Amino acid sequence: VIGLYLHIPFCASICSYCNFNRGLMDAGLARRYVEALDRDIRAAAAGKPAADTIFFGGGTPSLLDPADIGRLIRACRETLDLAADAEITLETNPETASPDRLVGFREAGVTRISFGIQSFDDAELAPLGRTHTAARAAAAVREARAAGFRNLSIDLMFWLPGQTRDSWRRTLERAVALDPDHLSLYLLELYPNAPLKEAMARQAAGGLDWRQAADDEAADMYLEALDRLQNAGLWQYEISNVARPGFRSRHNVKYWQGGEWIGAGCGAHSTFGGRRWRNVAAAGDYCDRIERGAPVAIDVITLDPQARVEEALFTGLRLAEGIDEGNFLQRFGVNPWSRYERELAPYLDDGLVWRREGRFGLSRRGMLVANDILTTFV
Ligand code: SF4
Repeated sequence: VIGLYLHIPFCASICSYCNFNRGLMDAGLARRYVEALDRDIRAAAAGKPAADTIFFGGGTPSLLDPADIGRLIRACRETLDLAADAEITLETNPETASPDRLVGFREAGVTRISFGIQSFDDAELAPLGRTHTAARAAAAVREARAAGFRNLSIDLMFWLPGQTRDSWRRTLERAVALDPDHLSLYLLELYPNAPLKEAMARQAAGGLDWRQAADDEAADMYLEALDRLQNAGLWQYEISNVARPGFRSRHNVKYWQGGEWIGAGCGAHSTFGGRRWRNVAAAGDYCDRIERGAPVAIDVITLDPQARVEEALFTGLRLAEGIDEGNFLQRFGVNPWSRYERELAPYLDDGLVWRREGRFGLSRRGMLVANDILTTFV
């Protein structure tokens, strides 16, 4: 059973740390884009096996009208066998949500709403260039519940400029009070030319405190958050994700468990039938190609057996449940522990990796240094 990823590249404004494939909303281009995406879905999903997830990611998919979201879900449903209980997620920014629009998205078929909130502290939101306030974010969550969403996720970020352990605790408490079913915690990563990085340097020169906490404090923020969320019934199932039992993101778990998915839209990636490809990144180029019947997929690669083993280890170790050695052996013909025992043994001794009952994985402290451990495989 596969997943479908639909990319919506438009945003109302551009956040100062964002390195995703997105651009400013342009109503004319958005109209063309929805037409093109509808055609792309029908071509890309034709002849594919049944699907049980759709994920609208971006960009800001909730900038589209509910009617457009409904039309794109229909295109999926009319092209392949979509499970009756499919998980259909819409990434939503709080400022694009209103009671009417949320009811519209629900009626269009969206079953899971994922709010990009980042912080419940207005002073932390401002440097990020987010256009919502903490109050609007909390109101949007309540409006989504009132609109009938029974599967609701919140994205938060830590290690923000000016953020302290106390302000992070307050953000977590406000999130917990809203009773989400799922929560993602992302560490702010500053890419080299991020406007936020330059703004932080300017602020520091002007005597304002927009610094990030020390590395070890960021680690404590992460570990403390996981404990607090677990006490609230939200269990860690992946490095950056916690959920109530039964509310893991079915779509994202496909990425981590070596599943297959088809991506439609500009810049979307697909992995299917032992091959991987991505679509052209620019929205205008994407629309032009679809309109003249030209292919949008580029960089098609065939995954060789060694690449598949490495990748399955890389992504599988992101999951708190780790890797089942027996399953892995069956799927890839390689016992993953024996194969990498020499590299992994030192981490086992340090308590960064665990191994029991035919599985192995990263401990929470291991997750903090996941990048170092995961490079063992490549
Ligand atoms: S809303 Fe999301 S995709 Fe858009 S600019 Fe901000 S972080 Fe990037």
